Amino acid sequence: MIIKNVRILGGEPVSIRADDGVITEVAPGLDAPGAIDGGGAIALPGLVDLHTHLREPGREDAETVQTGTQSAARGGYTAVHAMANTSPVADTAGVVEQVWRLGREHGHCDVHPVGAVTVGLEGRQLAELGAMADSAARVRVFSDDGKCVDDAVLMRRALEYVKAFDGVVAQHAQEPRLTGGAQMNEGVVSGRLGLTGWPAVAEEAIIARDCLLAAHVGSRLHVCHVSTAGSVEIIRWAKSKGWNVTAEVTPHHLLLTDDLVEESPVGAYNPIYKVNPPLRTRADVEALRAALADGTIDIVATDHAPHPVEDKETEWPAAAMGMVGLETALSVVQEAMIETGLLDWAGVAQRMSALPARIGRLPGQGRPLEAGEPANIMLYDPLARIEVEPSAFASKSRNTPYEGMTLPGRVVATFLRGRPTVLEGKLV
Ligand SMILES: [Zn+2]
Repeated sequence: MIIKNVRILGGEPVSIRADDGVITEVAPGLDAPGAIDGGGAIALPGLVDLHTHLREPGREDAETVQTGTQSAARGGYTAVHAMANTSPVADTAGVVEQVWRLGREHGHCDVHPVGAVTVGLEGRQLAELGAMADSAARVRVFSDDGKCVDDAVLMRRALEYVKAFDGVVAQHAQEPRLTGGAQMNEGVVSGRLGLTGWPAVAEEAIIARDCLLAAHVGSRLHVCHVSTAGSVEIIRWAKSKGWNVTAEVTPHHLLLTDDLVEESPVGAYNPIYKVNPPLRTRADVEALRAALADGTIDIVATDHAPHPVEDKETEWPAAAMGMVGLETALSVVQEAMIETGLLDWAGVAQRMSALPARIGRLPGQGRPLEAGEPANIMLYDPLARIEVEPSAFASKSRNTPYEGMTLPGRVVATFLRGRPTVLEGKLV
């Protein structure tokens, strides 16, 4: 297979030859009958998401492994980590192997199950972390995401435990007592709207505690969906100490602010903007962008959180929290980071492919596009401008905050070990 006329990381046009799923040659001018013409698109290593909700088993009305990975492929992803808050919860070797097997059978990208930290995400008792690590799914990322592991003793024990197999605990940092009944970012907008505020300190206090715990036991901590300027300062401090702490930011926290809850195009209280952690202020967005640019925040992760219409299109307090994100992620990152000059394409590849693969310990993903490396490739046209049309999503759910917005860029093609999963923007 030859893909011709592509620009790796935005460089000069070259062709990529792949055989049996492995890149065998990268050079200008390679051609053959049946070669795929990239049309000058940018080639990046297939994107890797550390934080995806595929909803299967249990909420197949919202998403399945099949539709979620189709959505991922359309977004340029070749691997996703499937979060554990399914029904049943992925807290045993049996459930993670079930998800892993579904990924092998129906996946349009690689599916790596995340294991729950505590039994049933209940925060009382450690789950079988070792059994999940030793299972066929070879789990390395553990998270109660959706809920915070707020018990400091349990968090310490989880951090100690995962060291045995080079795992990482990915924390959803939300102090539960400080966020009881919280509906949106605590600030002037929540005050005007009369919605219970979600203070920044509820995130920051947990991150500070967990950085200290990770340092104390010499383990690996990953902070999910950082959303405040204060969190950035704490992570910067932890990294300056040399502690093994990594962090992610979502595309929506790089672009959207809490003003939208009051002033959206369709009026106030539109639950499409209800998300956990909540949209914050313009100052937070600026701090998150700067932190992603300087490496304080390591990666972009989507927190793709599909919900059916009936769970989302209801009054604000009752609506489910979350947004779909796989199919718009790179466009939002282009808007927030490339168009602003904060990152180049090599920087984006690092933060959306190489580093998430490294944090998740995926040896066959996030590799450079060079001879001898797996042919996990995505092609992207940064000059395209697309109006976001949710009905065109491969995801089973439509809860995107970008409906009707024009975003830059378009995923042209995705290749998983040399096999196209998307060509000309369409699923293969
Ligand atoms: Zn979360």
